[in-house]
Formats: sequence, structure tokens, C-alpha cells
Amino acid sequence: MQPIRTFNVSPALPPQLEPLRILAYNLYWDWNVEIKELFRRLDRDLWESSRHNPVSMLGMISQARLQEMAEDEGFLAHMERAVRQLDEYLKERTWYRKQRSALSNHQSTNGDTSTHPQKECFAYFCAEYGLVDCLPIYSGGLGVLAGDHLKSASDLGLPLVAVGLLYQEGYFAQYLNADGWQQERYPVNDFYNMPLHLERNSDGSELRIEVEYPGRTVYARVWRVQVGVVPLYLMDTNIEPNNPYDHDITDELYGGDLDMRIHQEMMLGIGGVRMLKALGYKPTMYHLNEGHSGFLILERIRILMQEQGLTFAQAKQVAQSTQAFTTHTPVSAGFDLFPPDKAMYYVGHYAHTYGLSREEFLGLGRENTGDLASPFSMAALALKTSSFVNGVAQLHGEVSRVMFHSLWKGLPIAEVPITAITNGVHARSCVAKATQELYDRYLGPSWSEKGAKDPLWERVLSIPDEELWRNHERSRSELVVFVRDRLVKHLRGRGASPVEISQAQEVLDPGVLTIGFARRFATYKRATLFLHNLERIKQILSSNKHKQVQFVIAGKAHPKDIPGKELIREIIRLTRENGISSSVVFIPDYDIHVARLMVAGCDVWLNTPRRPREASGTSGMKAAMNGLPNLSVLDGWWDEADYVRTGWPIGHGETYEDAEYQDEVEANALYELVEKEVVPLFYDRDAEGIPRRWIAKMKDAIRLNCPFFNTARMVREYATRAYFPASDRNFVMTGNNYAPAKELAAWKESMFQHWYNIKIVSVDVSATEQIQVNQKVSVKALINLAGLTPNDVQIELYQGAVNADGEITNGTSVVMQHQGKDQQVDSIYTADILYSASGLQGLSLRVLPKHENLSSPHELGLISWA
Ligand SMILES: *Cc1c(COP(=O)(O)O)cnc(C)c1O
Repeated sequence: MQPIRTFNVSPALPPQLEPLRILAYNLYWDWNVEIKELFRRLDRDLWESSRHNPVSMLGMISQARLQEMAEDEGFLAHMERAVRQLDEYLKERTWYRKQRSALSNHQSTNGDTSTHPQKECFAYFCAEYGLVDCLPIYSGGLGVLAGDHLKSASDLGLPLVAVGLLYQEGYFAQYLNADGWQQERYPVNDFYNMPLHLERNSDGSELRIEVEYPGRTVYARVWRVQVGVVPLYLMDTNIEPNNPYDHDITDELYGGDLDMRIHQEMMLGIGGVRMLKALGYKPTMYHLNEGHSGFLILERIRILMQEQGLTFAQAKQVAQSTQAFTTHTPVSAGFDLFPPDKAMYYVGHYAHTYGLSREEFLGLGRENTGDLASPFSMAALALKTSSFVNGVAQLHGEVSRVMFHSLWKGLPIAEVPITAITNGVHARSCVAKATQELYDRYLGPSWSEKGAKDPLWERVLSIPDEELWRNHERSRSELVVFVRDRLVKHLRGRGASPVEISQAQEVLDPGVLTIGFARRFATYKRATLFLHNLERIKQILSSNKHKQVQFVIAGKAHPKDIPGKELIREIIRLTRENGISSSVVFIPDYDIHVARLMVAGCDVWLNTPRRPREASGTSGMKAAMNGLPNLSVLDGWWDEADYVRTGWPIGHGETYEDAEYQDEVEANALYELVEKEVVPLFYDRDAEGIPRRWIAKMKDAIRLNCPFFNTARMVREYATRAYFPASDRNFVMTGNNYAPAKELAAWKESMFQHWYNIKIVSVDVSATEQIQVNQKVSVKALINLAGLTPNDVQIELYQGAVNADGEITNGTSVVMQHQGKDQQVDSIYTADILYSASGLQGLSLRVLPKHENLSSPHELGLISWA
């Protein structure tokens, strides 16, 4: 039955408890122990059953309980402390202000104060956000990373505004049928009972965004999630007068077919830009976290053309100078690709607006513009229109440079302008409450934001072993209790037999070495690798009564990923058939809450991806912050961690052609490590039963990983390396009525016109074939600049060792000095170089574009070699 009217009924709080409403609507409660504890204290059962949702809790709690708390002085004092902490938090975000203080003192020559940092605004776009478990609009690592990014941006006081979609169904809840086959349930998100504000116009009506789709306009309303000082705006198309199909655009995260995917990405990118505009934001740079939001570039260019009267080239220049793009996958199959006709059908009208032909327009999204059969790639679009591009770990940066080398033909792979900013995790969100209090006590309350150089990390060594260990053992017990409860609940839910239920009540042993593995069930992550040799694993699990091992496994397979689901069923089947289902346990419905319990309560964190398929991985960082050693293939972040002191590497970073052989080798390496290293170290106890050497490793895991693999460091890196420079370029480009942008666009065009006429006439080297280390070599080159001036180009010597293929590897470059003209024609360049290494060394010369407003010499993709 359809209601004739709907009402949004809000809870009636006693006036003394009104502050709870304010606390509930700022997600800061998630990473402030005091505030979280306050809500837990209000009603423990409701707190759990509401999935830790203070808003729905306030709506469901009985008036009697509210009255009782309104008269409880202890509670009221606790609430006051919580309110004070939120107030202080909102006021005291200073890192950004210090970094950009130069800006606020700076007055540009024409008295323009637009350079004031308060006017700076960084727009962050992502298709999913994993912030708290009661807001299930994420599917995995990308979302949790984006959520952590916002939390740290808030901690640092960045003027960041985030954009996303509010999914009606969110990500699915997982349960298993009797056969171990994953089933999905899509709980419907009740937005009015979540920490969301509906954005309204000044007359009280809902704020609406409009985006044109073929033959119709689609409307979205806007919800705000307040993440500390950072607002996250989410669009929701589930409103009238949208047609039923359009209602579903924001129905399901990554749901539907390719057409639905384009619909979603248009709303995210195009709708997102319009939404920020409608809300009054004027971003000074844009950060695309993964390519899903790539269409935003099309809309930005349109607005710049129509509102500022710029040409396509000028508008594209402004957009590019102020855009950063982060790629998250190491395989090209991971990118969204749309067939050319489909791309034209949905966004082809932009070609018309820009005055571009079909192929010129599609070329914006093609790695190779000349390949007219190739699809429109969101990653190519983002890459070609960004001035800062990064992968999410050092190894992933390397892999990405190879993967996208074709966009910078002629450039040595090492110089492909894709850098890396290694991921992190938000410390206060992933470290268990009791452990945070332990760190607060021994390291001081600012540990969660301190870098590696800070001496406080040495104080980890002074945490008493007994205290650290007792705390950890408590976490393990809590995990075991949680696992049993959850299993029982799920078994009851599917009507399992009393025998099965009573077995579930006894799985795991709170005193046994517990290895955790939790991640999306994609085949490359090889969740079943540890079961590769069943006899071997059975031995490990129970060979010695006093040195047992148990495994806790969790993770969801994408609903359409049949091989991924097979893996889950395989684990269930193998553990049952081999009688090991009480020591190898799969926890259904992995989410942020389960993750937090696991990374605190396991003893070792296992990861077995096929290198280099794991771009970064972050759950291992969460585990390390809680003091867990990692046991992992050298991939993603682990490849750059201190994997000897803070855990164990599986293998040595090899890559394999033969997958079966690889599984065999790496499974054996895993068994060897568990038997010979992990188990002996864990069970090596002193007279008081304390594993001193194990605890030493835990402390190393904390003190060496915490300071680096966190989002405080990561967001500072994004800010200083990407956001500030892009924002600075924005002030330059838009100043003086866009004159610098116009000039740069015109300059680029002339570069493309003249570039291929540049001639390297001669290169003279003052050396014979045989030279000695530290001998100076002088080089003189004559270059015909073909209508360009010495200000337009940089001439560089490029030198390095020559490999077996006769190519210079790991080259370095030396800028040559312009020395005037030779007979009024060719430009003379000279440089001296000093050879510091012996062996066969090669020397070459190259020409690169040069302009003060370029983000890098590689922005045009032009390079000429001698
Ligand atoms: C941290 C986290 C992830 C990402 O973990 P990976 O190691 O990158 O696979 C996924 N889902 C949840 C719920 C998480 O908390």
C-alpha cells in the first residue's frame, strides 16, 4: 500500500539532551572515543542493533530511558565533555593554516585578495565512501580509503569538500546458504534515520540538481554528511518526477549494466560539478579518486567556455592545470571502458558544445587518439586532463608508468609523469579503543598524527610488555566471542540444526595463535592459497596440542563474480570435509565493524595476492597499527614496509608466468614460515607466559608502520604535492581575466605547430671512446629551433649505463645552457658532464617544451631525441 502522505518524525529529546542531536550528526563521533562511548552508554543494545547509528538510536530509544538519562548527572557530565571535545576539534584544526599562512599574508599586486587561503577549496570526487558502518555506501578498499581521506582532511583542517552518490540500497549484506554459496540481501537505507542532512534552498524547498540525459532531464536532491569539518555531499535521484529507471541511478553501488554505469558516472561527475556550484562552492582544484567521476572534466570545460568566454583549448588548459587524478588498479581491465557509440549517445552533446568532431571528442578518452576502434576510457580521460597523476603505492606507481607509457611515447618509463602516494589508514578509526588509550597513555595523545621522525615512536618500546599483551589477548577474546555470536545468528537465520548451532558456539579458541585474512574475494587475492595442501595445513592446525593455529576469514565476492563466490564455497567445503571447521572459520558479512574487530583481535595478518595485482591494500596497515605482524606476499604497501622486522615476507617479490606453479611455491613458502617462524615465536613464552620476542615484533609493527602508513601522512602528501600546487596554478590561470591560461593555450598550439621542425643539427663531444671516472666531458650542440625561441624549450643531455639491448637505463638528465646563435641560425647549447660510474655509458640529447606555467615538461607529451 502506498502512503497518501509521508512524514519525517524526529525524536523528541528532553531539552537537557538536545546536544546529543548535534553530536550524532557529526561523524566525528566515530573517531572520538569519548563521544562514541557516550552513545554506547545511552543504550548498549540499541547501539549494537542500530549498527552503531546514533541518529536511528535517538529515534528508537524509549522516552523513559531518555528521561532517566536526562536526570543522570554522570551522563550529563559525560555529554558536556563530549560536546566540548567536538567544539574544540572543530576550532583547532591548524595544520593547513600553518602550511598556507604565506598565502594569507600575501596580497597580489592588484590588491586582489582571492589568494586568501579561506578562498581555497579542494573538491574531492569518489564513487564510494566507507566512513562508518551505519552508512553502507562503500564496497571495499577504495571506499574505506576515501572515507579515511576525509577524516584526515578534517583532522588537518583542509578546506576540502567531497562529492559522491547516496545509494538507496548501499552495498549488499552477505550471508551463506547451507552449501556455502554467497547470498546477497540489499537492506534499504533509510536516509532520514542516518547521519544525513537534506540540503534545502533558502525558501525551505529541497535543493535540486539537474542533469540532461538523452531525451530527458534527471533530478537529484542533495544530502550532506558532516565529517568533522569536511562536508560530504551525496546526490540522490530517487525522487519525483524522475522516471522509474532514473530513480534507480543511485539505487545500487556499481549496480546494473554498462548503461546504468554511465548514468551513475554522469550524475557523479556532471551532477557533482553542478551541485558544488549550486551550493556556492568555487573549487580551486579537483581531485578525482579513481576514474568514475571523469565526466566532471567535460562539465568544467563547458562552464568555463560558456561563462568565461574561453575557447575549448583555453578551458581545457584551466581544467587540466587544476586537476589531480589517482588511479587504483594495476590492470587495464580494471578501468571503465565505454564503446564509442555509447559514449557519444550519452555525452556526445559536449562535442557539439566544444565545437569538436566526433573523433576529436572521443580522442579525449582514448589512449591512442588515432585508434578509432578503441573505446572511450574513463582512465584515459582523467589521465589526459590532469596535471598530477598518482598510483597508490611505490610499486603500483611503477606498474602504472609501464601501463600508461603509450601516452608519453618517447619518454623513458621512469619519467612517465605518474608518481605514487602510498595509501594509509586513519589511525583513530582502525585502532581498537583500548589500544588507543594505551598509546595515548604511553606516547601522548598526538601519536595518531605524528610522522616517522617524531621521537614519540621510540616510546612504544617503553610500553610494558605485560600491558600490551593483556590488551591484545583481550582483543582476541572479544573477536572470538563476536565470531561465535555472529555465526549463531546467521545459522539461526537460515534455520540450521541445533547441532550446527551448538558447534558454532564453540568455534575458535581464545588462547590460540589466530591468523586473519579478510578482503574482497577476487580470484587474484587467492583466499584459498593457505588451503593449497590440505595435509600440510591440517598438520599446522593441530600438530601439537600446545602450539595450535586457527584462521579467521571474511570477505564478500562481488555479486556477479562467480569465481569469487566459488572461493568462499570452497573454503566452507574444504573445512567441513576435513574436520577443521572449528579452527578455520568464515565470518559472514564483512564490513567496517568486522574489519575493526579482526585487525585488533587476530595475531597475524595474512595476504596472498598475485604480485603486482594488489595496488596497495590497506587492511594490513590497520592490523600493523594494532600491533599485528603481517605475513604477506611482497605486493602493494607491504613491498615498501620493513617486512623483516614487522612481519614476514612470502617469497622475494618474484612474478610468475605459470599460475599453478606460483601457487605451489608460494603456498609452500607460507607453510614454511608459519611452521618455522610464526608458531615458534608466538609460543615462546617466559615463566609468566609472556611471549617477549613476539611482543618485540608487535612493537616494531607499531612503531615502524604507524608513523608512515596512515592517512595523516597521506593527506599531507596529497595537499603539499597535488592540492597546493594545483590551487596555486588556479590562481595564476584565472587571474587577470584568464590571460595566463589564454597565453598558455596559444603557446601550446604553437608548440604543436613547430615542434616537428626542430632539428638537432650537431652534437660535439670533447671525448674519445675511452674516458675515466671523474673526467669532465664537454658537449656542444647546435639546434635549429624552427621558429621557437630558447625560452620555449629545454635542451637536456641524458646519460646513463647502456644495457644489453643498447638502451640507456636509469638515465639522468643535465640541462644545457643556451649560448647564443651560430651564424644567426642555429642555437648553441653547451654543458659539461662528469662520469661518476664506470662501464659502458651512453649519452643522448633531448628537447622538451618549457613554460613557467606548465605543471611538468611532459604535459604536452612532446619530446625529441638526437
Ligand atoms: C580496510 C578495508 C578494506 C580494504 O582492505 P584491503 O586490504 O585493501 O583489501 C575493505 N573492506 C573493509 C570493510 C575495510 O575495512
